[in-house]
Amino acid sequence: MPYMACTVHELPPLRVLIAAPRGFCAGVDRAIQIVELALERFGAPVYVRHEIVHNRFVVDRLRGLGAVFVDELDEVPDDRPVVFSAHGVPKSVPAAAQTRGLTYVDATCPLVSKVHRQAQRLIEEGRHILFIGHAGHPEVIGTFGQVPEGSITLVETVADVESLRLNDESNLAFLTQTTLAVDDTAAIVDALKARFPTIRAPRSEDICYATSNRQAAVKSIAGQCDRLLVIGAPNSSNSLRLAEVAERLGVPSRLIERAADIDWEWLGQPRTVGITAGASAPEVLVREVVDALRSSFDVTEEVADHSPERMVFKLPRELIPDRAA
Ligand code: SF4
Repeated sequence: MPYMACTVHELPPLRVLIAAPRGFCAGVDRAIQIVELALERFGAPVYVRHEIVHNRFVVDRLRGLGAVFVDELDEVPDDRPVVFSAHGVPKSVPAAAQTRGLTYVDATCPLVSKVHRQAQRLIEEGRHILFIGHAGHPEVIGTFGQVPEGSITLVETVADVESLRLNDESNLAFLTQTTLAVDDTAAIVDALKARFPTIRAPRSEDICYATSNRQAAVKSIAGQCDRLLVIGAPNSSNSLRLAEVAERLGVPSRLIERAADIDWEWLGQPRTVGITAGASAPEVLVREVVDALRSSFDVTEEVADHSPERMVFKLPRELIPDRAA
């Protein structure tokens, strides 16, 4: 009787360490709810100017419910409502909507609106603003659009601080984008204060709680990880920063949109893989990535300790069902 060998392939062990907090922040949660409530209140289609948040999965789901995403206001028909994205818009956008008599709902995150108000106040005080941020990001475009042209200058790096040429250096203030790397921004702020000792700093930090907490969470697990997967969109500022934070701590990191983007060759045979998600990435994508890892490894899952975030932002009154009438 022939002897039949039976080989059982055991999967290699893998510890998956999930950063916390991660994923949706209060501003993203609110923006998504605004689109959902607008669809309930006005019926489909509801137009949304720009991606409501930087995540394809979220955008596709809302599209399935009847949202139509457009680049500019002139693509919105006169008789349909439009929602402005969480990143904020220049003042000219709601002004144009008003002129056309459009119904609009502003889903700008309240923490971005706070920066808008700070910028306006500084201009009223006659100051010139140095704005720390990334060129071309919708939040930067929105904040620049709150103040007169020429009254705000973008600073992206410490080198930019050194090369600034300003007519009047005596009346400056700085503000920052909400989704920057905490450490890089601190270096730029130090350079600004060194070069312009009288520069006015914002009363409180403009980098938002969600960005800071997610970066701190990555730092707290980085020492235990051989690789880190950051779930987020390639145009999501806070997600990109998470990968940078880990790389700087010596942990090879990849930004992926979802499980299908895992580069298995790059991942290799690690003992511990860290996972986090940017502020606009839903938890379902974290589950998808863990499940994908389970197909190649014998996974032991662990969620890092953290204090829960309790931030919740109010919804616009006009969308709260019992107040809308
Ligand atoms: S990342 Fe921060 S600023 Fe951006 S939507 Fe979330 S809470 Fe608001």
